[in-house]
Amino acid sequence: MNNSAIEVIGYDKCTGCYGCLNNCPVKGAIEFNKTEEGFYKPFLTEKCIQCGMCKKGCPVIKKVNSNLEENLEVYSCWSKDEEIVKNSSSGGIFSELAKEYLANGDIVFGAKWQDGEIVHCGISKLEELKELQKSKYLQSKVETSYLEVKKHLNAGKRVLFVGTPCQIAALNTIVNHENLVTVDLICHGIPSYSAYEKYIRENFNLNIKNVTVDFRNKDTGWENYNLTFKNKDQIIIKNNHRKDLWFRGFLTDTYLNKPCYNCEFRTLPRFSDITLGDFWGVPVEVKNSAGTSVVTINSKKGKELFVKISSNLEVKDVKWETALKGNPCLYNYKMDSSRREGFYKDFSDLSFEDLQKKHFPFPNKYIFFIRRVLSFVKTRVLRVIRGA
Ligand SMILES: Cc1cc2nc3c(=O)[nH]c(=O)nc-3n(C[C@H](O)[C@H](O)[C@H](O)COP(=O)(O)OP(=O)(O)OC[C@H]3O[C@@H](n4cnc5c(N)ncnc54)[C@H](O)[C@@H]3O)c2cc1C
Repeated sequence: MNNSAIEVIGYDKCTGCYGCLNNCPVKGAIEFNKTEEGFYKPFLTEKCIQCGMCKKGCPVIKKVNSNLEENLEVYSCWSKDEEIVKNSSSGGIFSELAKEYLANGDIVFGAKWQDGEIVHCGISKLEELKELQKSKYLQSKVETSYLEVKKHLNAGKRVLFVGTPCQIAALNTIVNHENLVTVDLICHGIPSYSAYEKYIRENFNLNIKNVTVDFRNKDTGWENYNLTFKNKDQIIIKNNHRKDLWFRGFLTDTYLNKPCYNCEFRTLPRFSDITLGDFWGVPVEVKNSAGTSVVTINSKKGKELFVKISSNLEVKDVKWETALKGNPCLYNYKMDSSRREGFYKDFSDLSFEDLQKKHFPFPNKYIFFIRRVLSFVKTRVLRVIRGA
């Protein structure tokens, strides 16, 4: 009998959101383990009593969207505090939202580094905010965070929860409370821990437990960011994001979690109250070159919170189409899955460098140069035609 969520949907559709675990009444009946492909997924143990409760926590089975506002508001914005912008991936909107909660003794959930991997956790102090700032481009292990959210709400606290769209959809199946505000990220998908582990081991001869990465070091600018790999606070290497081998595999969609290729939570209406992303392709008149966020306000609750923090922000109105142009992951975007199968087939036989050369090589620099010149000429010609 297929009475558990994972048996119903199968591993290919499972996002690893931890919704099933948080809705399971038997401690130890579901364990999350890393699959060979490098993603945390649920495994049933002998303690499972086949009650089927996990299906109610699975957002692939049970869709709960409580945010049905018709008029989506879209903004380009950034924090007025330059330090916050510097320490954030884009415009620092997450930190401004979080500050509002922490200053009032309330709780903020987000993702932080722990033993070389990413975990979700709740914080209540401003000093802890630094740990949650910035995007970590690996799967965040939610563990029992959704239940902890419930506990804080029942104790009379307000909670802000930030996560990927699938994590927010999972949280919605478990908690619905007026004092909970959810924020999802425009999401490219989650890359594999196995690929990351192999890269770290072969390049730096290190166990991932001893490494953390600042994926969004802005020393050379927001759009031209670097990845800084650190070993016990010492920088091992700083790579431009366009040149780092592992990041190229992420950006070319080579080793994402399978359901990310056709994500059903990257859609409209959104599952969250507010959506945050990098405003790639932002028009110059509404841009901060230190970091610009694109923000969509998806619900009344989201609007109320955004209005509360607006005096700390520079906010510019933009059209949905303008935001979507540089951020296709905002809406129903399908990632390119053509390299994935070949990559995993060769995974154990080739070194990371050889996998990269074979499956996601850098474009030939002459062809790349010619393409850029052609694109420049095309833009100029179109501008002249439009102006005529
Ligand atoms: C895996 C991933 C993919 C993304 N893909 C895109 C994209 O394709 N296009 C785009 O425009 N934006 C993308 N983003 C969002 C973007 O990078 C910024 O997170 C967003 O703009 C918020 O930035 P900020 O300056 O407001 O705050 P920041 O301080 O950068 O806030 C980051 C927030 O994300 C949370 N977070 C960090 N890592 C994770 C994680 N692994 N899982 C869940 N939550 C996490 C943190 O707790 C924090 O709340 C992605 C983020 C992640 C984590």
